[in-house]
This record gives sequence, structure tokens and C-alpha cells, in this order.
Amino acid sequence: MKKHNFYAGPSILSQYTIEKTAEAVKDFAGTGLSLLEISHRSKEFTAVIEEARSLIKELLNVPEGYEVLFLGGGASLQFCMVPFNLLKKKAAYTETGTWAKNAIKEAKLFGEVEVVGSSKDKNFSYIPKGYTIPADCEYFHYTSNNTIYGTEVIETPNVDVPLVSDMSSDFMSHPLDVSKFDLIYAGAQKNLGPAGVTVVIVKKDALGKVERSIPTMLNYLTHIEKDSMFNTPPVLPVFSCLQTLKWYKELGGLEAIEKMNVEKAKILYEEIDRNKIFVGTAAKEDRSRMNVCFVMNPQYQHLEDDFNKFAASKGMVGLKGHRSVGGFRASIYNAMPIESVKALIETMQEFEKLH
Ligand SMILES: *Cc1c(COP(=O)(O)O)cnc(C)c1O
Repeated sequence: MKKHNFYAGPSILSQYTIEKTAEAVKDFAGTGLSLLEISHRSKEFTAVIEEARSLIKELLNVPEGYEVLFLGGGASLQFCMVPFNLLKKKAAYTETGTWAKNAIKEAKLFGEVEVVGSSKDKNFSYIPKGYTIPADCEYFHYTSNNTIYGTEVIETPNVDVPLVSDMSSDFMSHPLDVSKFDLIYAGAQKNLGPAGVTVVIVKKDALGKVERSIPTMLNYLTHIEKDSMFNTPPVLPVFSCLQTLKWYKELGGLEAIEKMNVEKAKILYEEIDRNKIFVGTAAKEDRSRMNVCFVMNPQYQHLEDDFNKFAASKGMVGLKGHRSVGGFRASIYNAMPIESVKALIETMQEFEKLH
């Protein structure tokens, strides 16, 4: 049976990415060796990482003065690397969910953190608005897409301090003005590749300003100087990311991808709003295009397990919501075909008819 992969992360990748990676595991770039056993300094792999870097720059229109890095440690390591490298005295953060909380916790190890907005009062079901950022903050950090709670910031916040953003779960899902940011980071395993690599886009001028000493591996300048080859980069994940990037370009770039994402999210939310069994959990104006969270309407709560089983019988995988929200979460990242979203909608409609 055809599977429809709604996992939140690691998550669906394009068939192109998976096939090209599988081929390279057997024979990488005609070397007669596996991608798993080649030197990261071989000319064949250096070409891969260079092309991946330049495709990110091309697709996101990254301006001069920015560097693209491929690092290990996941987005979670960035929660600490960002303040280690950028925070002198004070930074502003919004608290919009689990990942934002983790980022705030790390930043507090390095300086003063002003939480300028929080949606904790309503279990992170909306994006705080109308906050003001004290002028003495060195940067403002926000999570662009809250993977667990299904809320998203699509319009870049208009603030007077440099922006830093955790874009792990909506990276490259729409065009972006990178020039507004000092730093963007994204773990690959939501929208780009397998787990194991994190993309960092950083403005070079923002670095080298803190006085503390920074451990070599945690210093962005180390990785800039060595083109992300200071230590062994995650070779296979970088290769897979490159395949996804090529596929994005083939699709027509981020404008085309955004269009598809808007359409997929629209039809799914329309069904949630129409169907008597289900109800969305995120505030309508802040609904994520990537992670669509919904629960049973209270009078149908007893059918939750039944729906899980019914959906599984139709080939749906990974629909269970995160334990902090409950219910269901359909992650419909870039690589999710609209056919799978339609299959989910039909499943919801059939289930409604049964009850
Ligand atoms: C998944 C996720 C993370 C954590 O990523 P790791 O690579 O597991 O450290 C951080 N932020 C967001 C928004 C995420 O979706």
C-alpha cells in the first residue's frame, strides 16, 4: 500500500533525494566507492559541499557578506552557539513553544534575556504580537515555525535590532529577505535532508564582537575559515541536502514551492474547519503551512484511537500529535505531494461519514 508520510522530523524527503542518495551509497560520483567511505577532502565531495553552499545562496538570494555553514549538533547546538558568539549583554526572545524555550534557556547562560512576548498562556497556540524590543538588545531571536504547536511567522518581523531565527521547520518553504538577518539556522531533518547536519547562514560582520573566549568548535569563525571542513562534516547528510536543493531548483525555486505549500495547507485547513469531527488547535491567523495540528471535537474525543487506526489502515504514517498538544499533526513539508494531503482529506471525510 502507498504510504503517506506525515512525520514531523525526520520527515518526508523527495523521491529524487532518496534515489540519488541510495545510488551514491553504492557508487559515489563514478569513484567506484561508496559515499560512506570516501574522504571528505576528496575532490568529488568538496564539489558536493561547494555546490550545496552555492545553491542555498542562489535559491535564497543570500547577499554578499554572508556565509553558509554545514554544522553538526542539530538546531539544539545553535541554541547555545548563537548567544556564545553574538550575545554581549542583552538579547530579546519570543517564547512560542518548546524550541523557543530551549533557546531562551541557553541564552540565559551568556547574558540577560528579555522575553518580549510569550504565548504560554494559551499553550502556544498563537504568535505573540505587538511586542516592543528594548533598543539595547543586541539581537532578537524568534522561531519562525513552531513544529510542535503548528504556528508560523511568515512575514519577517519588522524590528530595529538584528534578527536571528530558528527556521528548522520552515527553511526554504518560502522566499525570504536574508539581508534582514544576522543569523539563520535550520536543522536539515524537516525540510532539507536526513538528520545530522544543520545549515547556518551568518552575516560575517556580526561575528568577532564578543569578548569571551569561545571554544574552537563552537566558534562560527572556525567553520567559516575552513569552509565547514574544520572537522569531518556529515558527508551523507550534506550530499542528500544537495539533492533536495537541486530538486527545489528544478521545481522553480522558492516562489513555486511557496505556492504549493499555500495550496496544500489551504485545502487541509478547509477540511478541518468543515469536518464536524475535527478542530484545529492554532489561532487561524498564525496557522503553520508546515505542521497542521488538530484534535477531535470534544463530543468525538472517544474516537481518537479509532481515527488513528482508520488513518493507519489507509497508509497514513506519523499523524499522532506531539504529547504536549495531543490529537493529530500532519506535517506537510516541501516534499509532501498534494496527493498525500488529498488522501488525508478523503480519509477524514470517510471517517466523518462513518460516525
Ligand atoms: C526539530 C527542531 C529543533 C531541534 O532540532 P535538533 O536537530 O533535534 O536539535 C529545533 N527547532 C525547531 C523549530 C525544530 O523543529
